[in-house]
Order: sequence, then C-alpha cells, then structure tokens
Amino acid sequence: MNENKSSSKDQRQGPSWGIVIVIFFLLTFFLNLFMGRMNQTKQLQISYDQFLDLVDESMVDKVQMDDDQIQITLRDEVEAEDVSEVLGEDGIPNGYRNTSRGVFNYSDSIVFYTGRVDDPSLVATLREGGVKIYEEIPEQTSTFSAVASWLMPMVLMYLVYFLIMRTLMKRMSNNDGGGLMGGLTGGLGNIGKSKAKMYTVEKSTGVTFKDVAGQDEAKESLEEMVDYLKNPEKYRMIGAQQPKGALLVGPPGTGKTLLAKAVAGEAGVPFYHLTGSEFVEMYVGVGASRVRDLFQTAKKNTPCIIFIDEIDAIGKKRDNQFGSNDEREQTLNQLLAEMDGFEVNGGIIVLAATNRPEVLDQALLRPGRFDRRIIVEKPDLPGRENILKVHGKKVSLSSDVDFHKVALVTSGASGADLANIVNEAALLAVRLGRRAVTQQDLLESVETVFAGKEKKDRVLNTKEREMVAYHEVGHALVSALQKNSQPVQKITIVPRTMGALGFTMNTPEEERYLLTQEELMAQITTLLGGRAAEIVRFGTTTTGATNDIERATEQARKMVTQYGMSERFGSMGLQSTQSQYLDGRNVSTCSEQTNTEADEAVRQIIEQCQDEAVRLLKENSHALERISARLLEKENINGSEFMELLKEEPSVVESV
Ligand code: ADP
Ligand code: MG
Ligand code: ZN
Repeated sequence: MNENKSSSKDQRQGPSWGIVIVIFFLLTFFLNLFMGRMNQTKQLQISYDQFLDLVDESMVDKVQMDDDQIQITLRDEVEAEDVSEVLGEDGIPNGYRNTSRGVFNYSDSIVFYTGRVDDPSLVATLREGGVKIYEEIPEQTSTFSAVASWLMPMVLMYLVYFLIMRTLMKRMSNNDGGGLMGGLTGGLGNIGKSKAKMYTVEKSTGVTFKDVAGQDEAKESLEEMVDYLKNPEKYRMIGAQQPKGALLVGPPGTGKTLLAKAVAGEAGVPFYHLTGSEFVEMYVGVGASRVRDLFQTAKKNTPCIIFIDEIDAIGKKRDNQFGSNDEREQTLNQLLAEMDGFEVNGGIIVLAATNRPEVLDQALLRPGRFDRRIIVEKPDLPGRENILKVHGKKVSLSSDVDFHKVALVTSGASGADLANIVNEAALLAVRLGRRAVTQQDLLESVETVFAGKEKKDRVLNTKEREMVAYHEVGHALVSALQKNSQPVQKITIVPRTMGALGFTMNTPEEERYLLTQEELMAQITTLLGGRAAEIVRFGTTTTGATNDIERATEQARKMVTQYGMSERFGSMGLQSTQSQYLDGRNVSTCSEQTNTEADEAVRQIIEQCQDEAVRLLKENSHALERISARLLEKENINGSEFMELLKEEPSVVESV
C-alpha cells in the first residue's frame, strides 16, 4: 500500500541537527566542569584556636573575611611538617593523613578556613602577625561564563523538549489508529505551535470494490460517488448537484472503513482518513483547528475523499445538559461550517462511519451534509460465503474447502470475524505443518473465534466431566427431539479458553430472517436442555448453565416485550431497542407495574420450556445415557455420528 504519511514542516529538517547541537553543548558543559575541577583549591577546615596558633607562628600570609568564614592562605615558604606541628594530629581531616609529603597533602592551592567567631581583637592580632586582610571580594567571573551558566540549562532543556516532541510527533504520524498517544501528542504539538496533523493521507488506497464482498447495496450507492469523482464534468454540465457526504452506518467489523477506502481506490483519488475520537481530547480548540486544517489541505488536492471514522465521537447531539463537552461541540460546529464551506461539485466527498446513528446531531444529517445514509449490515449467507472467498484468496486452500458450509455455521458473524476465521485457519494449518488450509482447519477456527481456543490443560475431575457431558448431550437431544429446532453440528467437552467447559453447536440448514413463536420456544427449550439434563440425571443443578439461562431469559423477554408473543400483553410493545448496531440495549417504555407483570410472563415462558425439556429427556433417558457415555469416551461427537446414535434408539424412532 502506498501510504503517504503526513509530516509537519519542521519535522523535515531531520533530527540530526538537533542531536549534533545537544552533543556539542554537553561536551562544552563537561569540559568546563572538568577544567573547574583541575583549578579548584582544596579547602580544609581548622578550628579557630588552630587559626590563631598559625597566626602566632607567622605562617599566615593573608586572610579573606567572608560573612561566615575566614579563608586562610599560608606563606609560600611554610613547610607541611611545620603546619602539622602547629595543628597537631586532630587538626587535620582524615583524608589528608599519611600522604607523600608527610602529614597531609599540602600544596599552594590548599586553603584553610575556619568559622568566623565574634572576636573584636582579631584584627589587631592579625595586624600584629603581619597578615594581609581582605574583605569579601566578589568572585571574578567573566560576563560570558556568567551568561552561559544561566543560558545553558535553558538551552539544554529546550533541546531535550524539542527532541522528545519530534520523536513523539513522528510516532504519532506513523500511527493512524490514534488512541492515547495520538491524543497526547496532538495536544503537545499544538502547544509547541508545530502543526501536527491528526489524519493520514493515502495517495491510493489499493482497495477496490472487489475486496468488499457481500455489501452489494452499499456498493451500488457508492458507485455513483465514484463516477462523480471520476467524471465531474458530466454532472456539472447538466447542473446536477452531487451529495457532499454519505454516512456509512452499521455494526462494527462489517466493512465500513473498507468500503470508504474502496471508493477512493476505485476513483483513484487521495484518501484523507481521520478518526472521530482523536478530535476529542484535552486542549480546547484543537479539534476545531484540525478540522479546518484537514479541509484546507483537502481543498488543495481535489478530487479527494475525506473519511471520518467513528463520527459519533464528535457528532453527538449538541445539548447543554450536564456532561456536555464544549470541545466536542466546537469541533462539530467547525465540521458543519466546513461542510457548508466547500462548494458543491468541488470535488470533495466526505464519507463518515458510525455504529450509533441515533446519537448524531440532526444538523449533520440535513441535506447538503451527510444526507445519504448507507446501511452496512452484517452479511447474509451468500454474503458470508463471498467474504470468505475474498479472504480465502489470500491463503492456499486444499480442494476439500467448502465455504458454503463454513458460511452456514457462522451466522451472525461480521466481515471482520470471517477474515479472522480464515486467518486463524491458516495459522492452524501452519501449526500442524500443512501446506494448505483444509475444511477441518476452517471449522476448527470457527470454534476458536466463537468459543475460544481449546484448553487441553484444564483438567476436570471425573464427576465434573460427566456433568458437562450430560449437560451438552442434553442440549443436543432436546434440540434433535423437537420439530422446530436446528440440527446438531457438533458436541464437545473439551474446555475452551473463553470459559466454556463444552458446547453444542447447532447449524441452521438455511439462513433465517423470520422466526415463528414455535421456533423461538424451541430455541429456549434447547438452551434449557443442558440444565434439564442435570436435573434428570443428577437430580441437582450446576453453575454450568449460567450462560444458557441468560440467553434463554433474554429471548423470552424479547418475546414478551418486543415480539408481542405473550398472552398477558398480546401485541403490546414494552421495550424499544437503542444503539441497535452495537449491543442493542433495550429500554423499557412502560410503567413499573407493567414491568413486574412482564417479569412474570417471562418466568412462565422459561418454566414452560424447561418443563418441556425435562419431559423430553425423561422420555429418552436411555438415549441420554448412551450418547453421554460415548461423548465421555470420545470428547467430540459430530453431527452425523450423533444422528446415527440417535437412530438406534427405539424411543426416539417412535417420537420423531
Ligand atoms: P468497520 O469499519 O465496519 O468496523 P472494517 O472495514 O474496519 O470494519 O473491517 C475490518 C476488516 O474486516 C477489513 O479490513 C476486512 O478484512 C474485513 N471485512 C469486513 N467486512 C468485509 C467485507 N464486506 N468484505 C471483505 N472483508 C471484510
Ligand atoms: Mg472502521
Ligand atoms: Zn449449556
């Protein structure tokens, strides 16, 4: 991919100059320090008495009286032995004993000093002894070194700061993912007045519509934009106004970013990519100036595409409620102004992506801004198959690979999940020393992606293993014994890294978009089959059913509150769904009391389904025993094996 990363001007000088300067200064600094060491006079403290003794012996040449001490310089001709005689043993500090010249290492540059005692007769004594007296003389320093001693730390600090900034900025411009680092350096960059840009430019994305599978409707809507970027004249001549922007809406990993890149790639225009969350950070005014900066650059490089990922981070509804974010609003206002600012048919198309369209500010969505909404849904069955094929091209496949079957078992997977599955399968094939990816690798990696890796080192005790086996066979049996349920694909009791101790996989024979009440009930019953097996076989319950219960309850609650499938409320809706492209949180729209009654209705559904599951397993306890025993022995049972075991059961043949 030909990525042309943004860089700011002062960055282009290259870091070498800065480093040279720093090294130069450091050298000067240390040299100075070193020379200072050489010239330094050694100072030895002596007591005031000893000082007076030295004066009495006429050994002192001169003294310098400072505020709190007296510096003593001895006469040249004084010998070390004489001094030590006067001072006596304890007068001389430790480090100076027994050196080559006798008692202490004595040279001309040694200065004795003593504390200044309040002694009115001192001056008289000194004059008697013929000592020269100096009053505190300010140290003689050249103007240059005085200035330098002030300036040097500052210069050094600036240089260090400068270098850190440069490194950070470099890292940031290499990092289009943004995140903390991006935010941090963006802020610092602006303090330093260096204009760090928070977007990446790709001269050509290298992605085309061929790389995006299963999003035919989205591609169709975007094709027009490609045509416009390629042949603007055609539109200008007829006076048609092109949409300025389109909003790609859909769950994470469905290929929104990919589609935007593909538009740029198809049209062969530069791609300006930035992420909404990067705007919202610590220094006010930064986000807005970045938007301005981005649009200015883009205008100079038309035709081009500006892509704002995660636009919900800046484009949230403006309100003055508590917690509203000034910085974000300024950024949003700037964005709105910029979108109005560039002329229609100016050769810029602004694409944005979000998975929370409902939080976007209305002003963003009005005509002339992001007035087109392109839905990028999770892929359907053929879509998944095509996505698998697109990613399958990147790896070598063995001839037994059947993407249709893989697509069947991956309902609900996003494009990113599927890409991940193919990659995991390739990794698995490498691990097993194969040359190509087999169907088995693919199916295994489906499990890895959805349930986690096999965790063979987790050792369950015999009792636990037995319970897990019965639980899983419970699911499988209940599923197989009901009319409205999906066939069993695989049962396993190998623990997984994501926490499951075993699982049962059901595969639909075809993609379903509409489910009947009976089918939903069958699903809940299947989910509760594990718990039912625990009850039927062991007469107790385990913690292993937690996830089943959660899912069953969620399903039952939806039946009551959203699908209008309860007797109590009929077709009355009790909940609405928010952020449907993310977690799909449900928000109650009714009174507390109704909620209480709804809980009761949910409980009834759960109870009914569980009773049914228990009944089915009791009637087929022989099958439960036999298949569980087989599972315990083999750890894995696949769908066809399971059906064969089932067919040998007299009770099952009767009931089905
Ligand atoms: P989004 O922006 O919607 O969250 P991305 O575009 O970043 O998702 O998709 C992530 C990755 O998943 C892509 O790089 C691509 O490998 C894969 N992918 C997602 N959707 C598709 C698709 N429709 N066709 C092919 N690959 C896809
Ligand atoms: Mg994305
Ligand atoms: Zn279970």
